[in-house]
Amino acid sequence: MTGELARAKARLDRLRLYPRPVSIRGVRMLTLPWLFRLPRMRRYDGYALPWTILLRDRPGSGTASEDLVCHELCHVWQMQHHPLRVFRAWLTVPYEQNPYELEARRAVENTKILS
Ligand SMILES: [Zn+2]
Repeated sequence: MTGELARAKARLDRLRLYPRPVSIRGVRMLTLPWLFRLPRMRRYDGYALPWTILLRDRPGSGTASEDLVCHELCHVWQMQHHPLRVFRAWLTVPYEQNPYELEARRAVENTKILS
């Protein structure tokens, strides 16, 4: 478990989006700069798969802010509850209208750490 994941979980734990809190047991964060240089991936700085967060930059550096880790962990949380619905939405709904994408953005906004 990394500090970045624990901090993101602490933020999401303040929300009640799903019946069970997000589990970070077994969640991996991988930094794969080359992946985000591919044409289809260039627009993203992070990408969530079940139990896996892919990042362009190392957590805490470059584009991989605490907000980004929180956003991607929210997607992991969504997939822990509704993997098929999330997958179907990715296939059928435009990115900017995807309710799971909008939910992850709101989760970040609603748990902003004020300094
Ligand atoms: Zn997203």
